Amino acid sequence: MSTITTEIRISEMQQRPVTKPCRFCGAALRQTFVDLGMSPLCETYPLEADSYRGEIYYPLHVYVCEKCFLVQLEEYESPENIFGDYAYFSSYSDSWLKHCKAYCDMMTNRLGLNEDSFVVEVASNDGYLLQYFVQRGIEVLGIEPAGNVAKVAVEKGVRTLVEFFGADLAAQLATDGRCADLILGNNVLAQVPDLNDFVEGLKVLLKPSGVLTLEFPHLLRLIEHNEFDTIYHEHFSYFSLLTTVQIMKAHGLKVFDIEELSTHGGSLRVYACRIEDDTHQLQPSVSNVIAEEEKAGLASSEGYLSFTRKVQETKWALLEFLIKAARAGKTVAGYGAPGKSATLLNYSGIGTDLIEYTVDRSPYKQGRYLPGSHIPIYHPDRIQDTKPDYVVILPWNLKDEIMQQLQFIKQWGGRFVVPIPTVAIY
Ligand SMILES: [Zn+2]
Repeated sequence: MSTITTEIRISEMQQRPVTKPCRFCGAALRQTFVDLGMSPLCETYPLEADSYRGEIYYPLHVYVCEKCFLVQLEEYESPENIFGDYAYFSSYSDSWLKHCKAYCDMMTNRLGLNEDSFVVEVASNDGYLLQYFVQRGIEVLGIEPAGNVAKVAVEKGVRTLVEFFGADLAAQLATDGRCADLILGNNVLAQVPDLNDFVEGLKVLLKPSGVLTLEFPHLLRLIEHNEFDTIYHEHFSYFSLLTTVQIMKAHGLKVFDIEELSTHGGSLRVYACRIEDDTHQLQPSVSNVIAEEEKAGLASSEGYLSFTRKVQETKWALLEFLIKAARAGKTVAGYGAPGKSATLLNYSGIGTDLIEYTVDRSPYKQGRYLPGSHIPIYHPDRIQDTKPDYVVILPWNLKDEIMQQLQFIKQWGGRFVVPIPTVAIY
């Protein structure tokens, strides 16, 4: 009797874990892209009082769909829980604000926007971008699910709806005659669990002659530059242009231009319009990027196989450096507390024994802890006060700006450590 029970257990264990189907095309997900172990939600920063309670860890197991090549993570926690009280205020980065103002100037000229135009931003955060359209007298509407950040936008004079965007909300706005000349979504596509409903909504809300721009981290750069720490539970999907074009097409939209941006480790800005709109010429930039992706193997399952090994190498190199520094009695602090630091530190198993503390300019994060590792977050003055030997720059995408701000650490012989793509000391 007991033998039979054991056999049943073994056969159950050998079964593959059941995953949800691909969130775009519905195919079964079988191929692992990378498995980063278990991690808590990366934008939930515990307070001192919470630090004695447990945190929920979810698998960071990323799959690639063998049919449409959408790289994706299962939705373990509802967006309401993730984004209800979101800690990310876009306006705390100077270089990001500069990028946004330049976008506003460029789009106003390119599309000839004026006082009669209407611009909608999906996931408008604290009004960091729409504020520049408001300054030009252009009517705007922000849609932002996180009440605490939306409140800041409204205080700035940026009209904002506290809602999740999808086909229903778009249809409601369209019925009210609120279709847009320009819809933009920056770093939101990855955070959408119901991708088809979201993209359908974008189409519905777009005027027949309207233009849509979406910015998102480019999967090709994530793979090339080993940016595995940009994978976290709040990002459900990771896009190549190949897959994006398919998704847009399935919803009656066509991609007609692409810009490659340096933001977030290499992003794409995709320009799209309705399929039937002939006013925008297909630019060679689109086929150029697709050709580059095909060359990198992103149009076949095999192209996704080697990523895991690169990720492991990075973890080992970072640990080697930090352990050596600790054994030599050096002090190591972090700079920044971005979402990606949670993936890097939890995957690598780094705690306060290796990085004593980190600092962040956002007052929301100061006095809290990094999720999982419980490395404390202080005001940036702490670096001047404690004079660490090494400062690990966790938001490595802003490393130039941060190294410039922190040049003073050179006075006591301090050095910078940039963990990604491979450990580098400056
Ligand atoms: Zn698929």
